Amino acid sequence: MVLQGVVAVDGPSGTGKSTTARGVALRLGARYLDTGAMYRAATLAVMRAGVAFDATRTDAEGNDEAVAVAVAADLVMSTDPAEPRVLLAGEDVGAEIRGLEVTRAVSAVSALTKVREHLVAEQRRIVDETLADGAGIVVEGRDIGTVVVPDARLKIYLIASDHVRADRRTAEDASAGRTADAASTGADLARRDRLDSSRASSPLRAAADAVEVDTSVLDVDGVLDRLEDLAAERGMLTPALAQVGGGVPNGG
Ligand code: C5P
Repeated sequence: MVLQGVVAVDGPSGTGKSTTARGVALRLGARYLDTGAMYRAATLAVMRAGVAFDATRTDAEGNDEAVAVAVAADLVMSTDPAEPRVLLAGEDVGAEIRGLEVTRAVSAVSALTKVREHLVAEQRRIVDETLADGAGIVVEGRDIGTVVVPDARLKIYLIASDHVRADRRTAEDASAGRTADAASTGADLARRDRLDSSRASSPLRAAADAVEVDTSVLDVDGVLDRLEDLAAERGMLTPALAQVGGGVPNGG
C-alpha cells in the first residue's frame, strides 16, 4: 500500500521519531522530512559563521546577525527516506549536525522566532511540492501537527519513558562513535525538553487531535504496524500501482 497525504510525527527527543517516521515512509512508499535536521543545519551555519549569539534571547534583537546567517543558510533537504541527506551550501553535513556542539546549541537557535518563521515556510513549501507530485509525506519534528501542517490527516505524538529515551540516545551516540554516558545524555534530553516546551514560539506540545503512541512498550515493528493501521483507518492508503513493465500480465 502507498501513503497519500501527510503524517505528522511529533514528540520529545529520544522517543524514536526518526526511526518511526523514516520507517513508515519506507514501508508506505512516501517521502520523509526531518525538520530537526533543518534546525540543526541552520545552527551549524550560525556556529561556522562565528557570529555573536545570545542564547537567552528569543527575539532578533541582539541576535540579528545569527538570525541573518540562519535565514540565509543554503539548505537542501533530500526527502528520500532511503537516503535522507542534509546539504549546507552543497556539503553533506548529516554527521556533523548530530555532534555534541550542534546538539547543545540547537534548542537556543530554534527558539528564535524569525528562524522558525523561515524554516516553517520552507517546510510547508517542501510538503506542498511533494503533495503536488502526488506523493505522501511523513514529517517529523516538534510542531508539525500544531503549526507546520495543522491539517495533517494523521498526527502522531510519540512518548517514551525517560529511562528508555536516555538509553536509546546513548546507544545511538556510541554507534556513531561519539562518547556518551546515560546520565549526561539523560540530563541533556531533560534540558532540551525544557527549552523546547517552554519557548514562546511554537513550543513542543501534542496537537489536540494527535494520537499518542508510547514507544517504550512496543518494538519498532509494533510502532510501524500501529501507524500503518491508523493511516489505513483514515483512508490514507491506496494500492501500489503496478510497476511499469512489471504490471499484471494480459491486463488481468
Ligand atoms: O529532532 P532533533 O533532536 O534532531 O531536533 C533538534 C532540535 O531542533 C530540537 O531539540 C528542537 O530544539 C529543534 N526542533 C524544533 N522544531 C522542530 C524540529 C526540531 O524546534 N520541528
